[in-house]
Amino acid sequence: MLYLGCHLSSSKGFAAMGRMALSIGANTFQFFTRNPRGGAAKEIVPADAAALVQMQDAGEIGRIVAHAPYTLNPCAKEEKTLEFARNTMKDDLRRMEYVPGNYYNFHPGSHVGQGMDEGIRKIAETLDVAMFDGQTTTVLLETMAGKGTEVGGRFCELRQIIDRVSRPDQLGVCLDTCHVNDAGYDIAGSLDAVLEEFDREIGLSRLRALHLNDSKNPSASHKDRHERLGEGYLGLEAFYRIIEHPALRGLPMILETPNELPGYEAEIALLREYDKAADANKL
Ligand code: FE
Ligand code: FE
Ligand code: ZN
Repeated sequence: MLYLGCHLSSSKGFAAMGRMALSIGANTFQFFTRNPRGGAAKEIVPADAAALVQMQDAGEIGRIVAHAPYTLNPCAKEEKTLEFARNTMKDDLRRMEYVPGNYYNFHPGSHVGQGMDEGIRKIAETLDVAMFDGQTTTVLLETMAGKGTEVGGRFCELRQIIDRVSRPDQLGVCLDTCHVNDAGYDIAGSLDAVLEEFDREIGLSRLRALHLNDSKNPSASHKDRHERLGEGYLGLEAFYRIIEHPALRGLPMILETPNELPGYEAEIALLREYDKAADANKL
């Protein structure tokens, strides 16, 4: 099954996002748990969450991805910033239990000069405070572009975080195609080699979601600027190979391209058309 979706505005609630996703040909989606710049979250309406769970149980919508606010830095230097990260993540994970069994994706953060090892240590510590026994949400570390002092630009950095947490079973990775390209992995030119490296460093069973983004910059640019599919350095063929790859099949694939809804709808249609043609050729 091909699960395609895009980032949606969460202002109208879970059921509205589910309907919005279906209306543009998507069967998964991503949303911010609160304002991307942080701040208080809206209280969850249990009936609204239940309506989405029902769509998931009916098989209309697959697993969805919640995204933590950008301002959350789980390896911050300042205690106040760290405290915000811990509290926000803890509260988000508690709220995610209204829609059990989904994903919560976050940026590992920036070590801001404390060094990679200290950054990794702090991220694992923040996760240990925020995660709880019996949680049904899988927390996803997003692969990053390696901009500035960002943690997570290399697969081995994510591996070290996973090795340090006390609840590794509830931890996975979300691979962002723009970010890994910008970090220096040739995902457009040698998908198999990148996935082999991912498997060696982290283990493919940890790969639980993808962000499908083209990049405005060449590989190893360490920039992180998303582009529409086919309009950047990765090119459409790269995304066709990704959606058809047996190791990636069944994962939620989320578009975070610079688009409004009609643009997302067109990208999803394009990928589904290709997939249909590929299926027909296999017969
Ligand atoms: Fe992200
Ligand atoms: Fe992303
Ligand atoms: Zn990005």
